[in-house]
Amino acid sequence: MTAVQVLDDVWLVGSGTHETAFTDPHDCHCYLIWDGESGFLIDAGSGLGEQTWLANIEQVCDPFRLDSVLITHYHADHAGGAATARELGLQVRGHPLTTQALLTGDEERTQVARARAAGIYPADYRLRPATLEPIRGGQHVRSGDVCLEAVDAPGHSDGHLVFLLHGTRGTVLFSGDCLFAGGRVSLQAIPDCRLDLYATTVIGLADRGVDVLLPGHGELVLERARNDLDRAAATFRRLVPPENVLPAD
Ligand SMILES: [Zn+2]
Repeated sequence: MTAVQVLDDVWLVGSGTHETAFTDPHDCHCYLIWDGESGFLIDAGSGLGEQTWLANIEQVCDPFRLDSVLITHYHADHAGGAATARELGLQVRGHPLTTQALLTGDEERTQVARARAAGIYPADYRLRPATLEPIRGGQHVRSGDVCLEAVDAPGHSDGHLVFLLHGTRGTVLFSGDCLFAGGRVSLQAIPDCRLDLYATTVIGLADRGVDVLLPGHGELVLERARNDLDRAAATFRRLVPPENVLPAD
C-alpha cells in the first residue's frame, strides 16, 4: 500500500476503503499535508493499521518534521491511532472534549463500547488512552507556511472539529465525519449525534467558500465542492436531514 497524492501538498496515507492507500478496514481516510518543509496529519485511524499508516507517511516525509496530528473527533476510526502517534513522539491535538475522552480512553463518551457491541469494531478492540494538546474552534495552527483553521463542527458527535486549509488552489475542507461527497452527512443513533447542531454547523460551513472537500470516508471532491456543501445546507434549511452516508442495511 502506498501514499496517494490528491493535491499538490496533500496525500491520502490511510483508509479503510481506498484500494491504494488502504491501511485497515476500520480506518477513516487519514490525510498528510506536506509542502516540502512543514505539515500536519489529519486523523490517525483506528490504530489497527498503524504500521502501514506510518510507512505511507514515510514515503512522503520524515514524520518527525511534522507539527502534529490533528484529530477531527473522538470516534475510534479517527482517534484510535492517537496512542500510536504519541508513542512515536508526535504531538497530537484535538478539541478539549476529545482531549478529555482520550486521556482515559473513555469508551462510553466516545461511543466505542456501543460501536463494538454493534459489531463495528472487533470484540477485542480497545480504545487506547493518549495525551492530546487541546485546540479550539477559531484557532489557527501554523507550521512554516502551512496554516490550518480549526472550526467547531458539532452534530455528528460532540467536540467535532473540521479544518480549513487556505492556499493557491482555493479553500480545502478536511471535514472528518461532518460532510461527504454529494452533500451527505453521517447520522447515527447515538446520544451525542445532534441534528439541530448539525444543521447549524453545515449551514455555517456552506458560507466558507469551500473548493475541495476531503472527507473522512468515501469519495473525495477535488473541485466545485461548494455545490456539495450548498446541497446539504439547503436541505437542512428546510429542516430535513440530508441523505445519510451510512447505509440502512
Ligand atoms: Zn465519526
